Amino acid sequence: MSLVIPADSVQLLQRMISFNTVNRLAEGILFVEGQLAQYLEQVAQAWGFKTDRLAVTGDAYNLLISHEVNAQAPWLLFDSHMDTVGVEGMTVPPFAGLVKDGKIWGRGSCDTKGTGAAMLWALRNAVQSEQLSTNIAILFSIEEEVAKTGVNAFAQKQLSQLPWKPVGVVVGEPTQLQLVIAHNGYVRWTIRTNGQAAHSSDPSQGRSAISAMARVITAIERDYVPTVTTTHPLVGKAQCSINVIQGGSQINVIPESCEVLVDRRLVPGEDATPVLPAVKSVLQPLCESDPQLDVEHVEVRIDPPLSPDSNHLLADRVGQVLTNLGFSVEPVGVKYGTNASNHTAGGLPAVVLGPGDIAQAHRADEHLDLDQFKQGINVYQALMRQPACFWEA
Ligand SMILES: [Zn+2]
Repeated sequence: MSLVIPADSVQLLQRMISFNTVNRLAEGILFVEGQLAQYLEQVAQAWGFKTDRLAVTGDAYNLLISHEVNAQAPWLLFDSHMDTVGVEGMTVPPFAGLVKDGKIWGRGSCDTKGTGAAMLWALRNAVQSEQLSTNIAILFSIEEEVAKTGVNAFAQKQLSQLPWKPVGVVVGEPTQLQLVIAHNGYVRWTIRTNGQAAHSSDPSQGRSAISAMARVITAIERDYVPTVTTTHPLVGKAQCSINVIQGGSQINVIPESCEVLVDRRLVPGEDATPVLPAVKSVLQPLCESDPQLDVEHVEVRIDPPLSPDSNHLLADRVGQVLTNLGFSVEPVGVKYGTNASNHTAGGLPAVVLGPGDIAQAHRADEHLDLDQFKQGINVYQALMRQPACFWEA
């Protein structure tokens, strides 16, 4: 199919929505963003931007679109993820990019192709209409909704291989153009109890992994969860809950194995390291009183929180730009996670800022208000247009 260059920003967003980029990592499929990435690459090249495929794993890559005006000038990096959550149960056509009632509808319109389209359109405008004195790059990252494979590859490997290091990252997520400087992170893991299978006609021959897990859950909810009390003024209290359980194989077999998934939400400034030892120590008396109790903690995943201690200077500068545009700037914290904390872990200050309302994300009738979208373009463009000296320390 021949490339059609979008005539306006809404067309660009419509086209981006038309690619099915539903995250399917849970099914073992990694690079669902391939066709969208190729499309963005072609459009960016047609507009004269440099494009780089930053390999993640296998065929999968983050797409970096960049415009260098001066090798001496600072770089400002933008990041928008290309994957979306699933479309099951949606009440609007997920990939049509329908425009109606001043809104654009479809999966990803709000989270977060709207921010990606706004960033790319802002760069096009900024370059075509005037002299930029700051170098600008946009990272179209993969695989944010499940495991953050894309941003972690960037922060841990790709960034150090670039010939430049940005002064900071503006991560696009629907914040209603409020400046987000803090958010939660998590430690998530699987607890498994191992029992002994036996025919249920004589349970005394086995050991039930489900009974064992019931005791484990009781101990965690009684003795660990109440100790999770750390709070942060911008996001509230840390949390811990057990949200998935699976065990047993059939009705006439004493269950050999049972698993639960634990979600421990970290607030900014909280360290992930003591979480597992604290849970294990709560289970210690249980294990001591029953030497046959076999408990494992496996598949631990950590996503760091975003702390406002990490992004003062960048937040001040972005805040100044927003103030100049007439926005009220009261930096906020949010309870969801974003790529910003992973960039920070990789050594880059990061804030979250974008058009759209998070309440619309992941919904059956996901949409983005077109006024917000246009404002988003203006905000990103104003950031890009700042003189080089504005970003320099
Ligand atoms: Zn998102």
